[in-house]
Amino acid sequence: MEHTEFRVKAKEMVDYIADYLENIRDRRVYPSVQPGYLHKLLPKEAPQAPEQWDDIFKDVDEHIMPGLVHWQSPHMHAYFPALTSYPSIMGEMLSSALNVLCFTWASSPAGTELETIAMNWLGKLLGLPDCFLNEKNDSPGGGVIQTTASEATLVSLLAARTRALMELSKLNPEVQSAELLGHLICYCSDQAHSSVEKAGLIGLVRMRYIESDEHQSMRGEQLEKAITSDKEKGLVPFWVCATLGTTGSVAFDNLREIGAVCEKHGAWLHVDAAYAGSAFTCPEYRHWLDGVELADSFAFNPSKWLMVNFDCTAMWVKDSTALHRTFNVNPIYLRHENSGKAIDYMVGDKQTYIKKKLRKINNILKGINNSITVVNGDAKTNGDDTLKIKDIPKIIKDINGNLPNGDHKNGKLNGDLPNGYNENGIINGDLPNGYKENGKINGDLPNNDLKNGKVNGDFYYDDDEDETLHGYNKISAGCGEKIQLEDPTKKEMMHWQIPLSRRFRALKLWFVLRNYGVSGIQKHIREGVRLAQKFEALVLADPRFEIPQPRNLGMVAFRMKGDNALTERLLKRLNARGYIHAVPACFKGIYVIRFTVTSSRTTNQDILDDWNEIKTVAKEILLDVFG
Ligand code: PLP
Repeated sequence: MEHTEFRVKAKEMVDYIADYLENIRDRRVYPSVQPGYLHKLLPKEAPQAPEQWDDIFKDVDEHIMPGLVHWQSPHMHAYFPALTSYPSIMGEMLSSALNVLCFTWASSPAGTELETIAMNWLGKLLGLPDCFLNEKNDSPGGGVIQTTASEATLVSLLAARTRALMELSKLNPEVQSAELLGHLICYCSDQAHSSVEKAGLIGLVRMRYIESDEHQSMRGEQLEKAITSDKEKGLVPFWVCATLGTTGSVAFDNLREIGAVCEKHGAWLHVDAAYAGSAFTCPEYRHWLDGVELADSFAFNPSKWLMVNFDCTAMWVKDSTALHRTFNVNPIYLRHENSGKAIDYMVGDKQTYIKKKLRKINNILKGINNSITVVNGDAKTNGDDTLKIKDIPKIIKDINGNLPNGDHKNGKLNGDLPNGYNENGIINGDLPNGYKENGKINGDLPNNDLKNGKVNGDFYYDDDEDETLHGYNKISAGCGEKIQLEDPTKKEMMHWQIPLSRRFRALKLWFVLRNYGVSGIQKHIREGVRLAQKFEALVLADPRFEIPQPRNLGMVAFRMKGDNALTERLLKRLNARGYIHAVPACFKGIYVIRFTVTSSRTTNQDILDDWNEIKTVAKEILLDVFG
């Protein structure tokens, strides 16, 4: 296809798309084709000679369209919504034409930067705490667009696994990681999506399912019991997945209770809000977010209810270093002249690393300064940390070369301490270059140290067995040149995910956020909930039906009273007729039909028509069964 033909045919395609969406209500939502139908209609091999566009497109109309489920239809009630919208389609059109890959900042600077901006907008729109945003220079948190909620769950589990293994390796340096892995255990509710189980399978870790309460909600007490009992068996709880809006019944785990348990046991808390996340754009639904500040990662799918077409999963993390540690490889072909200077989540890493080291030193100095006893080489600081005195030289070396005097001997700091080191519980004299006194960094920093959030001169640090910082490079700035430690607009998204390459998905998200605005998005969500309430009222008013679990948001799980078999027959027949499409769920042995309001085009009349269809089929079934 050449330019001239593209101009004509692409415009025709736009009309085809607009006609399709405008008239979608007229189509049978569920196809009547049988497995293998398309194999019978299309050739077994690709054509040798180029084919005309009109011939190709004729096949779309005749063979492909009849085999599709029409997800944008107002009569589509299966699964959760997978909505698109005109601004989203425009974003997809443009991004597929540009086809830029946004793995490093240099591979497409605007791609990376727009993603950060759009994710900050979206995070604020949901009311997420600042620690998940990437706006402040010293914040290691931030958002990234993943392909699916399943992938976000896996990324989170793998990052938590790396963190847990590093901690375990420190305590058991002689034990292989593979052996330590066998001790790890993670948790989710018995209502969690199957993708959580899959993440555990891929991560090679045990998963324990916590029994949910009568509202299908995972509670802190049950989790605490399970964790305590597992710890007694020598297992190490490292990750918990809480669901906000379960797939079966849109139930909500109790984040505040679960968060407190995770905090107590040092487990990473991931929140899977795949469907319900979109509702948090409306303040009235944010009570389910209570406790989210205790989470380590949070993900939801704008590709479900937020009218951003698939794929688009928004994921935020509090500490991106945990992702880098897990996914950072740094081959030469991905380095660029701005590496270190002009990035990124990696630079954020270095900043966090240095800060951590300074904090450790300050703790030690503080501990010593408070006359904390040194017993067998361990100094007990003000906090609960026990710091090995023998680590001091190593830590200081990390930042400032060899520690000259004052190395410890026999469990004590001996001999002449260099400037500023303590003797007799006091920090004496001037602190050496760059060390801290009275909460401030004094004097000139030696080469490479951190001052005022900047690194001076060349900076380099080695892999460190404690921190497992692999693959870091010398920052290519000349001596004396100041390197901005973190520029939030310049990030390497490739370290935040499993694949290397990434699409320019931020464009469609940004288009939707701008074209609808906050008010338009909120209106759309509230309308979906209102229509679900309308359907709920119709079901409740009919004595042949019941709703075993209270409706939440835009999904009603209903059934015919009596044996499960009645509802099973009802659903089978409804789907076979193809006017509406729905799928079942089963909680605690009760079979239900999930009726989700999916489409942004659904009207009151659509809901009434769907209810009439359901009643008609239910009447037939009752007649068949009871005569
Ligand atoms: N988590 C929940 C709660 C879901 O409902 C779903 C799918 O509906 C998923 C995860 C999986 O989503 P994805 O297809 O984006 O992986």
